[in-house]
Amino acid sequence: MSSPEYIIARKTIKAKILKLSEEEEELLRQEYENFQRYLRGEKTVPLYAATKQQADRFLRRINGKLKEMEYPLMLRNDTYSIRIERSPYILKIPIHGVWGGIRVPIKTHEPITGNMRLREAKVIRRGNEWFVHICVEKKVEERIPKNILAIDMGIRWIATTVNSSNPIPKFYGKELRRVKGHFFYLRRSLALKKAYGAIKKIGDRERRIVNDILHKISREIVNEALKTDAMIALGDLKGIRKSDKGNRFNRKLNGFPYYKLSKLIEYKARWLGIKVIKVNERNTSKLCHRCGSKGIRKGSLFECQSCNYTCNADYNGAVNIMKRAIRYMRMAGAGLTQPITR
Ligand SMILES: [Zn+2]
Repeated sequence: MSSPEYIIARKTIKAKILKLSEEEEELLRQEYENFQRYLRGEKTVPLYAATKQQADRFLRRINGKLKEMEYPLMLRNDTYSIRIERSPYILKIPIHGVWGGIRVPIKTHEPITGNMRLREAKVIRRGNEWFVHICVEKKVEERIPKNILAIDMGIRWIATTVNSSNPIPKFYGKELRRVKGHFFYLRRSLALKKAYGAIKKIGDRERRIVNDILHKISREIVNEALKTDAMIALGDLKGIRKSDKGNRFNRKLNGFPYYKLSKLIEYKARWLGIKVIKVNERNTSKLCHRCGSKGIRKGSLFECQSCNYTCNADYNGAVNIMKRAIRYMRMAGAGLTQPITR
């Protein structure tokens, strides 16, 4: 037996700034707006020195390609602090020329605990309100898996899962498909009326609703992994944009938030110490999971002419991902129980 391994898990905790005096508001607004100007090339603007460094790092990361938008004020982890002894928490924000910065009360959507370490924080302005996204990390003991929960991502079902302890697959994404369809229709009718302002507005609403759905799906998947002592196997998503089925198909595919869902599952799982691996997803939708021959897809069905096996195509993909993950884990010496498939 190997000794327990520890992983570093990260997540973002969202918070709202509850109260700002007029003076604090003015200082924060200046720092925030100077941060915008600094990003756009005004390097001599007054801005907290370490925050300038954060801006430079960010510019390097995006290769200087800025979008037409306001960016959050990025605070380096050693320049801000949060007092968590009492509620509300008190956040110290560094401000250029103000010794000790400003201290403001914040309300987080979940508690910050002593075992978390603060990473970068981002101050965001939305209308007249200010928010902070605080990136935190903690050390977690990795659970030893007995089973594998494999996830296949597709168009009909954004996620199809199979668990090596249970032969019945689960399909996720009905609600997502409905929401996407609804907004697609709405956008088209607004475009006919040339109501472009309204299109932008419903775009934001759609994103929020889709995000909620993705959070829900990822939570359910990670909870199942927890309950069944399973690790999670995800496809690496490498093939997903390079489909050769034509533009129409690709447009539809790229509108789906695979990457986002994959990230949500990963961070939620890691936070609970659940192991996540990525497996090469190449041909997992084309090969028969029973005999390994190339089969064909007919609508939502997969058909194998070699062994005359027919099943749901997404299920077939998920089992292939599970089998690859099992091979990979056996090579790494893990003691997994024998999988049950249909
Ligand atoms: Zn077959």
